[in-house]
Amino acid sequence: MSVPLLDLNRQNASLHSELVAAFEKVLRSGHFILGGEVESFEREAAAFLGAKHAISVSSGTDAILVALMALGIGPGDEVICPSFTFFATAGCIARLGATPVFADVHADTFNLDAADVARRITPRTKAIMPVHLFGQSAAMEPLLALARQHNLAVIEDAAQALGARQHGRCCGTIGDFGTYSFFPSKNLGGFGDGGLVATNRDDLAEKVRLLRTHGSKPKYYHKVVGGNFRLDALQCALLRIKLPHLPAYCAARQRNAAYYGSRLAGLGGLTLPQPAVGNDHIWNQYTLRVGGHGRRDALRQHLTAAGIGAEIYYPLPLHQQECFAGLPKVSLPTTEALAREVISIPIFPELTEREKTEVADSVIAFSKLSGTVAA
Ligand SMILES: *Cc1c(COP(=O)(O)O)cnc(C)c1O
Repeated sequence: MSVPLLDLNRQNASLHSELVAAFEKVLRSGHFILGGEVESFEREAAAFLGAKHAISVSSGTDAILVALMALGIGPGDEVICPSFTFFATAGCIARLGATPVFADVHADTFNLDAADVARRITPRTKAIMPVHLFGQSAAMEPLLALARQHNLAVIEDAAQALGARQHGRCCGTIGDFGTYSFFPSKNLGGFGDGGLVATNRDDLAEKVRLLRTHGSKPKYYHKVVGGNFRLDALQCALLRIKLPHLPAYCAARQRNAAYYGSRLAGLGGLTLPQPAVGNDHIWNQYTLRVGGHGRRDALRQHLTAAGIGAEIYYPLPLHQQECFAGLPKVSLPTTEALAREVISIPIFPELTEREKTEVADSVIAFSKLSGTVAA
């Protein structure tokens, strides 16, 4: 039996008739840009998050871009972010002419290490951008303390963490801005590209709304240079169907993670992901660390041969990417070790019992084959 890393059709098939009805409603309305569906979705998303403002945008990438633009970040500015993340985090900083400054992460959570961030603050630093990687919050308190001390903005890249919490507060509502993605592989997967910006600050919300439509207010009078960062009414109508199910999707991922935790505990050479104290982890990915030279790649080959989907998030840290070769060289030992050792296995909500068993059995068999089962 093969097990996919992700199967979107299972989730969407269960909502088929509701999704088709929402599509038809928008089709018949003839209203495709902004309007009622967009406003309703934004209201529902804000309520879900407990945020004052939720503004839908064209992608998770554009959510980061527009948040940075609203903060006025540009040439000469530095923004501190992890290197162990998806490219968009740093790509958006660079696109605005600012400099991404990469800090190292904690080995246990894969998230920003505030002590390393502190060492990289300069008079040019304007913001810190923690990423809540794989669905659990970065340790926000020490980052917020640094931000207060140095007067920095905090943008939370919560693309993988919509629904995750830290000490009861939703990821993305703790700093000045939270940014989210509805890319189909995220916990709230849309039907194409989509994103969201959350903020509790009225002034920043106003700026994002302005920037989302070319900075125009009223129409054809442009206060600032923005872009077309709108999310389609169609996408909002479809996401409104799925949003109420998000807690159940996250709970199913948590059950799958608990299952792997119980089956895979104690295997030598393998480190299992653990939620940090105070975090509600929503498991966008279930990511193992495989120690030993070449063993991660061997596990991947083993799983692939068994027909089990697995992926490396992320194989080359951002500070080592060709496009950033012009930046000052940095050494990020934990990030570099993680890039060599991590592998993500299927965790999506609709995995069956048989599939989970198959994945766990296969990982255990690998561990035994390579003779590293703990005594
Ligand atoms: C997915 C993702 C993004 C970008 O979102 P898109 O909707 O694909 O543009 C940004 N940051 C992180 C950490 C992501 O995982």
